[in-house]
Amino acid sequence: MNKNSYVVLVTDKVSGDALGPLYEDERFRVVQVDDSADSEFSEALAAADGLIVRSATQVGAQLLSAAPKLTVVGRAGVGVDNIDLRAAAERGIAVLNAPAGNTVSTAELTMALILAMVRRVAEADASVRKGEWDRARFKGAELRGRTLGLVGAGRIGGEVAKRCRAFGMGVIAYDPYLTDERAAELQVERAELDQVLEQADVVSLHVPLTDSTRGIINSEAIARMKKGSFVVNVSRGGVVDEAAVGDALASGQLAGAALDVYEVEPLDADSPLRGVSNLLLTPHLGASTQEAQELVASEIAEAVRAALVEGDLSRALNAPAIGSEVLRALAPLLELGRGLGRLACALSPGGVREVGVRYAGHSDDALKPLTAYALMGLLEPVLGPDQVNFVSAGHLAEQRGIAVARTKMSLHADYTEFVELVLRTEAGSLRLAGALLGEAHPRIVRIEDYHVDIVPAGTLIVLKNQDVPGVIGRVGTILGSHDINIAEYHQARLSKGGHALAAISVDGDVGATVREALLQLSEVSAAVVARLG
Ligand code: NAD
Repeated sequence: MNKNSYVVLVTDKVSGDALGPLYEDERFRVVQVDDSADSEFSEALAAADGLIVRSATQVGAQLLSAAPKLTVVGRAGVGVDNIDLRAAAERGIAVLNAPAGNTVSTAELTMALILAMVRRVAEADASVRKGEWDRARFKGAELRGRTLGLVGAGRIGGEVAKRCRAFGMGVIAYDPYLTDERAAELQVERAELDQVLEQADVVSLHVPLTDSTRGIINSEAIARMKKGSFVVNVSRGGVVDEAAVGDALASGQLAGAALDVYEVEPLDADSPLRGVSNLLLTPHLGASTQEAQELVASEIAEAVRAALVEGDLSRALNAPAIGSEVLRALAPLLELGRGLGRLACALSPGGVREVGVRYAGHSDDALKPLTAYALMGLLEPVLGPDQVNFVSAGHLAEQRGIAVARTKMSLHADYTEFVELVLRTEAGSLRLAGALLGEAHPRIVRIEDYHVDIVPAGTLIVLKNQDVPGVIGRVGTILGSHDINIAEYHQARLSKGGHALAAISVDGDVGATVREALLQLSEVSAAVVARLG
């Protein structure tokens, strides 16, 4: 990527004043065309090395094919829904985003909503405008001395915690990746999700939308909350079950709620939410401040500069320029590493602190990409699949305080290509291993101390059970009764009649109801569902 001069095309009205890192570097020529529908934009695109957009310009295969020199696309903001990551990766174009610049603005909106919700500001305002003067109806409560329950304590959750502390609130947080050091720094108490729900007066969500966060605040979660508590969601639509919030406001289980983000945006003109009282609705305003727009613009300008001049792709969200021969040859091994990472994530609900990736095989080039793929598998279920990739996985693991070690081992006695993940987790330690059969067929061959033989694909149920007759039949019956087809069933035990582990690969998805039904079996002590991809 390195050369002497670069053209960067900037569109979507990205704040020009904040593009200092590019304007101040004489190697750059910046072309600003505010509307990408203008003919000037297409002309400039043909010569551009870098492109900076917000959310208006659709960066799809068609646009990319008209940009023969392009090597970097920068999104001034977080979400990259308007950028086709795969099409960009296929052309070796790195896609970068600017996740930090809107942190404070979003935290401040969260505070605005919490205060307005608890003191019923919007309703009081509407009432005064109608000519009323009803002070008794709008009696509120103080935040001082109450408990904020955070679900997700990353950048924004952390800033919300600091501000709520300043209001005299106690803060408890559920986040598998919150370290003791960061919790102490933020003066928050780490807790399990149930504790947060049961103890908080205000629950505030600051998580990405992933399989594990979708519907995390549903009717069961709300039922666990204190009667008369509050919920605020400034994270992603889909994290909160909107209908369940509406019902809980109607029944009085929730005293108030505030939503900035929705399952479908823009919110339907006739959405029932619009008629719910004690509910504040804002149109995805978290990052809508002058400061946030400028911060994300300067953040992305610096990232694009570093990518073009220094080849620094540590912020890349896709996988550019890795379609080399070596990586192609390693593909089955890398997918095995990713599958093991995903399984490790599912088996470590409290979060991972250390990961050791050990490889025994014939390639001298495998260990680094294998580690990146294992970290990708580990982080994807937590951060969302489009927020982590081959290039960014190591960087994101480091940011989360996960220590990573890589080891090349001498050849394995039984397998020509063998990979092992050794993890230190919140709960203790975990060891998983996989191998390639016939150089191209990945298998998971070990889970903890149990030897298994399972293809790392689709959905895997891992059960711990007593080794007694009839368990396999009973498990099969439960899965069958939920219309779930078993692809592979591998039962392993350490000793006859003792503890056993079943690794069951199934077609389709396995929901909470099925998992609960498996746990109801008296012989089953643990049931984990991993989506291996
Ligand atoms: P971040 O990555 O810094 O923090 C997210 C945190 O969630 C991480 O610490 C992660 O460990 C945690 N997490 C992941 N899965 C979890 C789970 N199942 N349970 C509990 N915690 C979990 O991200 P951020 O910058 O703080 O952003 C948080 C959210 O806010 C994102 O969804 C982002 O897209 C959204 N956002 C919204 C707006 C807006 O305009 N409303 C603006 C900016 C960001």
